[in-house]
Amino acid sequence: MYNIIGYSDMSQHFLLSAASRTLSLRGIYQMGEAKAYETFCQMRWDGGQATCPRCGCLDTYHISTRRKFKCKGCNYQFSVTSGTIFASRKMSFTDLLAAICLIVNGAKGISMIQMSRDLDCQYKTAFVLAHKIREAMGSDRPAMPLEGDVEVDGMYNGGYVRPANLKEDRVDRRLAENQTGKRRVVVAFRQRKGRTLPFVVRSESEGVELAMQHVSRMATMHADEATHWDRLHDGWQVGRINHSEAYATLESCTNQVESYFSRLRRMIRGQHHHVSARYLHQYANHAAWLEDHRGLPNGELAGRVGDLALTHPVSRNWKGYWQSGK
Ligand SMILES: [Zn+2]
Repeated sequence: MYNIIGYSDMSQHFLLSAASRTLSLRGIYQMGEAKAYETFCQMRWDGGQATCPRCGCLDTYHISTRRKFKCKGCNYQFSVTSGTIFASRKMSFTDLLAAICLIVNGAKGISMIQMSRDLDCQYKTAFVLAHKIREAMGSDRPAMPLEGDVEVDGMYNGGYVRPANLKEDRVDRRLAENQTGKRRVVVAFRQRKGRTLPFVVRSESEGVELAMQHVSRMATMHADEATHWDRLHDGWQVGRINHSEAYATLESCTNQVESYFSRLRRMIRGQHHHVSARYLHQYANHAAWLEDHRGLPNGELAGRVGDLALTHPVSRNWKGYWQSGK
């Protein structure tokens, strides 16, 4: 069976299938503000029944005109977003849902200029909102150490030094004194058929310490020929792949973690263009979450991100971000 654009149904890419589209911006704006508000209540509380965030009391008054609740136990007044990453929101619930939809729809991320245009909000609003959502995505980390087959690799980012125009002015950019100190490396562990765990560090060799904390000693690790990975052999069974000879052998490959880096690299180059060391972990977490959930329909993705955002406490990093003069 071939559909109209000539792809075989059997080999059709998931993102091209109707099953991958269960949520749309049209649907969100058609549902309207009241229904969007109800969706937030459902995402935050099981069955939509408000629970006091201060004392856990289930007995509350609903002040429906102001979309607030008052706890009968401790008199605390709260809203559906109080104490969550969306606390003191100014955007409408439909816009917040639309923002989540835009973020999960962008398989390689979305630029903040684009998001501010799509939502018709200020650039700064889009910037902070997207970073809050990324922080919530980043909180979704596996509780247990990775196990089974675990691939590790690193990806350098930032600290580019432009060569001088005239040859005689050029310096050796490999020397530490000629570098900016802004270069970082994302070290990622990827369990095959499991989760991706990224970390931002200064040197790839720090990945050995991270492996001790986050990878089960029963796992088989896979790494490339870089000599700092030799230390992994002390703690794990390790398969090595020498990329100057082959990208995959029967013994080993790091293709899964490479495909995560491919997504992250495209996200940075294609959408954000320049990412500072300070925010790199946010983009690394964003790409890892998208990579690990790539087989799910977008409605399911949006629901999960909504759940994460509404169970994530107020962000210390992003609350009042522009007011604090950062
Ligand atoms: Zn209470």
